Amino acid sequence: MEHSCKCTQQIVALDVESVLADIHTAWITHYNKEFTINDITDWDFKSLKTWNESLESFLDETDHLWENNPKKIAPIVPNLKEATEHLKPFDIVTSRRTLGGIINWVEYHKLEYRAIVYVPDNKANLDYCMYIDDNPNLALSIKDNQFLWLISQPYNQEIEESVQIKRIDSILEAVNHSK
Ligand SMILES: [Mg+2]
Repeated sequence: MEHSCKCTQQIVALDVESVLADIHTAWITHYNKEFTINDITDWDFKSLKTWNESLESFLDETDHLWENNPKKIAPIVPNLKEATEHLKPFDIVTSRRTLGGIINWVEYHKLEYRAIVYVPDNKANLDYCMYIDDNPNLALSIKDNQFLWLISQPYNQEIEESVQIKRIDSILEAVNHSK
């Protein structure tokens, strides 16, 4: 795998939401929201105040989706199993508190992960070599020996690319780079 990682343990940390699972579309569709993903222009959902939404309403409603309707959350690309083959070995690393739903979803899509890891705070502290994530805060906190494929989203546009951060439109670009 060609990238700027300097660490020896070449394990990829794969985020779930907006990397594997299209949670925003599922949220907007399932709850008939009147905004689009393009209206979410900040990580804390302050941009959705006009629609009376907040980070809490997003988390509460999508917790419910993860727990009760995980199959309603579509994969971000078709055939994730095949796509992620080329990223092995990888761990599923998520900050989503409804871990049971995440596990069900990942199993349903037959992903061949090494481990599922719940991390409530900064993923950079887990010392993975490579991250595939959409979180702008992770981009600001990765260490010198880490590399991030940043999934481009309206809420992380302020992050600039560097030797350690490369912006991509979907996980497939990271996969193609790894083949
Ligand atoms: Mg995410």
